Amino acid sequence: MSSKILFDSGQHKNILLEDFGHGEAVQANQHMIIHGDESIILDPGGHKVFAKALSEAKKQLSGVPITYLFFSHQDPDIVAAANGWLMTTRATAYAPEVWTRFIPHFGIDKFVINQLKGIPDEGMRINVGGSELIFLPAHYLHSCGNFHVYDPASKILYSGDLGASLGMDYYKVSDFDAHLQYMEGFHRRYMTSNLAMKAWAKMVRSLDIEMIAPQHGAYFEGKAMVNRFIDWCDQLQCGLDINGDVYKVPDSV
Ligand code: FE
Repeated sequence: MSSKILFDSGQHKNILLEDFGHGEAVQANQHMIIHGDESIILDPGGHKVFAKALSEAKKQLSGVPITYLFFSHQDPDIVAAANGWLMTTRATAYAPEVWTRFIPHFGIDKFVINQLKGIPDEGMRINVGGSELIFLPAHYLHSCGNFHVYDPASKILYSGDLGASLGMDYYKVSDFDAHLQYMEGFHRRYMTSNLAMKAWAKMVRSLDIEMIAPQHGAYFEGKAMVNRFIDWCDQLQCGLDINGDVYKVPDSV
């Protein structure tokens, strides 16, 4: 596991923990925000990365406790190791309210269960060490209960599965058109519909964004690249727009 500083103002730090050795499991990024004497880990990942991510996070934190965890949605690459994170950090964990009764099935001990808090459908703001973070509604992209995190201090939008790319060997998008091949198939199949994409695009255009950092693959840096990605989402036909005819009983064997 390696780490990369995405933003550092001295008091406020955004760090990407990246795991390259993933075997059959999908590559995943873990993001960390440290402000003052508190910190948050976003989409901390499943069992395969837990030990490595925890030790790399501790190295970067140099004594600052992990005070918050954020789970954008219910998928195993995000919440499978929730119990380990809750037990070792004693952090308060936020997850979409619609998923808080399902996540305990990943095996959350009863004495840490009250550390898990629901994010209401409309989103919310939290304070990490004196710096505000916004949990933005991003439902149906792809999960029906899903949130992104906007950090006004660094102007980074953490977009979870939206913007995810698979199979390339760089961590920053430098050529948007050449990058499309690594994310188009995933978005067409995993995202629900252009209705959701358009509503999301409209919401995020109201924010001052310098970087969009997904949970898988490369990030988009700079206003021009950020806008290209938002424009692409705005017009993308995906999910039910193009797969609506799959509702057919399969043929016999
Ligand atoms: Fe997912």
